[in-house]
Amino acid sequence: LESLDVEAIREEFPILQREFDGQQVVYLDNAATTQTPDSVVDAMSDYYREYNANVHRGIHHLSQEASLAYEQAHDRVADFIGADGREEVVFTKNTTESENLVAYSWGLNELGPGDTIVLTEMEHHASLVTWQQIGERTGADVEYIRVDETGRLDMDHARELIDDDTAIVSAVHVSNTLGTVNPVGELTDLAHECDAFSFIDGAQAVPNRPVDVTEIGADFYAFSGHKMAGPTGIGVLYGKQELLEAMEPYLYGGGMIRKVTFEESTWGDLPWKFEPGTPPIAEAVGLHTAIDWLEEIGMDRIQAHEEEMARYAYDQLEAEDDVEIYGPEPGPDRGGLVSFNLADVHAHDLTSILNDYAVAVRAGDHCTQPLHDKLGVPASTRASFYVYNTREEVEQLVAALEDARELFA
Ligand code: PMP
Repeated sequence: LESLDVEAIREEFPILQREFDGQQVVYLDNAATTQTPDSVVDAMSDYYREYNANVHRGIHHLSQEASLAYEQAHDRVADFIGADGREEVVFTKNTTESENLVAYSWGLNELGPGDTIVLTEMEHHASLVTWQQIGERTGADVEYIRVDETGRLDMDHARELIDDDTAIVSAVHVSNTLGTVNPVGELTDLAHECDAFSFIDGAQAVPNRPVDVTEIGADFYAFSGHKMAGPTGIGVLYGKQELLEAMEPYLYGGGMIRKVTFEESTWGDLPWKFEPGTPPIAEAVGLHTAIDWLEEIGMDRIQAHEEEMARYAYDQLEAEDDVEIYGPEPGPDRGGLVSFNLADVHAHDLTSILNDYAVAVRAGDHCTQPLHDKLGVPASTRASFYVYNTREEVEQLVAALEDARELFA
């Protein structure tokens, strides 16, 4: 693989030039939100300047243009993730809403006592809390596939848990805390052998590696625009067409109906059936452009660059006696982020010192509280990388950490 021209890429992100107290920002909080290149910002501002209008129901030119752009964004996403077509691509607000859509539309209607929902111990709260609630409301049991001491899923335990009672397996593709890349194709196969469905949370996978939902075989797959160089306010739920056809919507209103009388209503075609009300049109335009931008660079090169950054950070942090890193060693099943703790310094304190050096990382439980309980720490500091990060930035992180250590000593 030809390596990236990172300096040229950085020029498309004016925000990376920002300085705080005379120090240029070192942005290593990409697992929370990535930065947005000029082309995406421009595409969204062109939309507002030139063809802003409501979609679907317009006869006039502007509405036709906006509708076309909105529909084409679905086609672009479908093509990007290997879905069969726009019918399988529902735009939501984010990954969290995509989880909730399936939980409400499918889970509440289909689950009951005797069913099990199988999650993993490394689920993000977006899936963990949602399915927990559906379990409480329906009487279905929630079970968790164990994370072993290396930070990987215990697949023997997965084979034990996934059985004829299992209705759905919901698993994170890449852990936002451990960085583990899970065998989601294998989990999906296990689910299918038991006539269960699979829901894959791809919030940390789609931004930085080639993902083909058909190859994985997933029934549902979710991700967010704002973690893949796109805007906030838009997320994706992929679902197999026959499943989405069979599912009832859980949000109702205009734009999603076929026929309405005072007595009853029927639903429109996919994917609009699940997108009532005025959708995120500018955001869809932005997401489309973000995908163009990512593919122009190449998802395999993005993956390679991010893994190189993470490995460089991992190796330097690993060399420090008082740093504990969570998750698997660098390799094919580890993605581009590193969560760690420095001695017994609280992650919030450490992160606040790093901020004094304009190094932006995240401290907290990263919406995986039960996993942190299991790790035996209340919080961790997470450095997460993207296509525009450099080795120098990793070195700045490590240098700031050295200074922080002296401060806390
Ligand atoms: N799942 C994972 C693995 C995540 O990392 C995140 C974002 N932290 C989410 C779900 C939720 O994404 P959003 O906030 O965009 O809904």
